[in-house]
Amino acid sequence: MRIGVIGGGLMGVALAYNLSQANHQVTILEQGTHLGGLNDQLEFDDGLVVPRYQHALMPTDTTLRELCAKLGLEDDLIFQNARAGFVNNDSIYPMSNILDFVSFSMLGLRDRLRLGRMILLTRTTSNLHELDKLTAKDWLVRIGGVEAFERIWRPLLEAKFDGVYDNVSATYVWAWLNRMSTVRQVPQLSGTIGYLKRGHFSLIQALADAFIQLGGEIKYDMRVREIEVQNGQFQRVRTSTGTFEYDALVAAIATPIFARLLPAPYLEYRARLEKSKYLGLICPVIVLDRPLSNFWTLNLTDPTYPFATIIQTPHSEKPGHYIVYLPRYTAPDNDWMGVSDGDIAEAWFVHLKKIFPTFSKDQIIHFAVSRSRYAEPIHMVNMLQNKLDIQTPYAGLYLANTAQVYPYLSTSEAVIVHAREVAERMLTTQPISMAV
Ligand SMILES: Cc1cc2nc3c(=O)[nH]c(=O)nc-3n(C[C@H](O)[C@H](O)[C@H](O)COP(=O)(O)OP(=O)(O)OC[C@H]3O[C@@H](n4cnc5c(N)ncnc54)[C@H](O)[C@@H]3O)c2cc1C
Repeated sequence: MRIGVIGGGLMGVALAYNLSQANHQVTILEQGTHLGGLNDQLEFDDGLVVPRYQHALMPTDTTLRELCAKLGLEDDLIFQNARAGFVNNDSIYPMSNILDFVSFSMLGLRDRLRLGRMILLTRTTSNLHELDKLTAKDWLVRIGGVEAFERIWRPLLEAKFDGVYDNVSATYVWAWLNRMSTVRQVPQLSGTIGYLKRGHFSLIQALADAFIQLGGEIKYDMRVREIEVQNGQFQRVRTSTGTFEYDALVAAIATPIFARLLPAPYLEYRARLEKSKYLGLICPVIVLDRPLSNFWTLNLTDPTYPFATIIQTPHSEKPGHYIVYLPRYTAPDNDWMGVSDGDIAEAWFVHLKKIFPTFSKDQIIHFAVSRSRYAEPIHMVNMLQNKLDIQTPYAGLYLANTAQVYPYLSTSEAVIVHAREVAERMLTTQPISMAV
C-alpha cells in the first residue's frame, strides 16, 4: 500500500517508521526544511545546538526508553536531580524532598497533608469517566480544600491556561500529578529526571534514519494545502508544490490545522473537529554562562509574571553553559504571539531579576524566542465522548495526534504508544466509507 503521512514531528515519524516496518511504501510530507516539529532544535551562530523546548523523560516512560535502546540511543540517556519548587512574591519555596514538604510555608499543615493525600489519590484513582465530567477547579477544591486552591492551584491553572480554565477537566490535573509523582521516591520524595544528551531531536533523527533504511521517503518544503475526498473516499493531497495520490493518508498534525485542510462541504465532521481546543506557546530560551539556581524546575504562582515556569538544565555537551526555558502558554491567537523577541526579552528579564537579583544580561551567551500556535491539546470536560477517532468518516483518511491520547498527557511516551496503535489499526481494520 502507498501511504502518505502529513507531518514530520515525533508522531508522524514514529508512525511512518511503524508502517514501513510492515512493508508499506510510506512518504512523509513535511512543510518545513527538516523534521522535528515541537522537538526541533535551535542552532546558534557559534554552532551551539539546544532543544527548542525542554523535553524530559520520566522513569515510567518505558516504551520510549525501549525504543531509544532499540535505536542505539541508550548511552545518550542521562539523569539529573529533579529539584523543584514554587515562586511566590519573588521568593523560592523548595518542594523536592520530604524535608521541603514538612517545612513548606506556602500552605498550613492541614493543607499540606491534604496535598500529600491528593497525590497518593491520583496514583490509585481509576474512575476516569467520573473525573472527565468534573472541572479541575471542582475536583481540586473538593479534595485539596479552598486554601490550597487559592494559593497554589488557581495561579498555576491561570498561568497554564492563559487565564481561562473554567472548562478544563480534572483529568488534566490528575494526569499531571500522576506523571510528576513518578519522579519522586516515597518516602524521601527526592528523584531524578532523564534527558537525551542531544535532545529528543536525536530520537526523531534515529527514527527517520531507520525509516529511510526501510525504504521510506521524506519530502521537505511540502506544505499540504488541501485533502481531496470524493464520495466518502480519500483521493489525493494538494501541496505547495504538487498533487500526490496515495492508497491511504494519515494526518499527524494538530486538529485545527487538519480541519482547515478538509474541503468546505463536510460541515458536520468539521464542527466536531472545531471542538478540539489547543494552547499556544511562547518560549524564550537563554543560554547562560552560570546557573541561575540549583533547581530543575520552578513553578510560578504569581499571575503578574509573564512566564509560568523556569526550567534549567546544564548543556550536556558544552560545560559551563546552562539552558534556561521561560515558557508562557497562551491562547493560539493571544497578542503576545505578535510581540517582538526584543520586547519579550525586556518584559521577561525584569521579572527574572526580581527572583534572581544577581542575574544580569552579561551572563547571557545566547537568547532566542520560539512560538507555537498549537503546542498542546487542552483537556476539556466531557472529552471522553468528544474524543476524535483515528478513522475519519472518509475511507482511507486517518487522523493521529496528541488530542487522541486523552485522558493522558501529550507526552513523547504517549506519542510512541499511540503511533503504534494507529499503525496497527490502519493495517488490521477494513477502511470504512461514509458517502457524503
Ligand atoms: C514546551 C513543551 C514541552 C514539552 N515537554 C515534554 C517533555 O518534557 N516530555 C515529553 O515526553 N513530552 C513533552 N512535550 C510533548 C511533545 O513535544 C509532544 O508530544 C510531541 O512533540 C508531539 O509531536 P507531534 O508530531 O504530534 O506534533 P508536532 O511536533 O507539532 O509535529 C507536527 C509536524 O507537522 C508539520 N505540519 C503541520 N502542518 C503541516 C502541513 N499542512 N503540511 C505538512 N506538514 C505540516 C509541522 O511542521 C510539524 O513538523 C512537550 C511539548 C511542549 C510544547
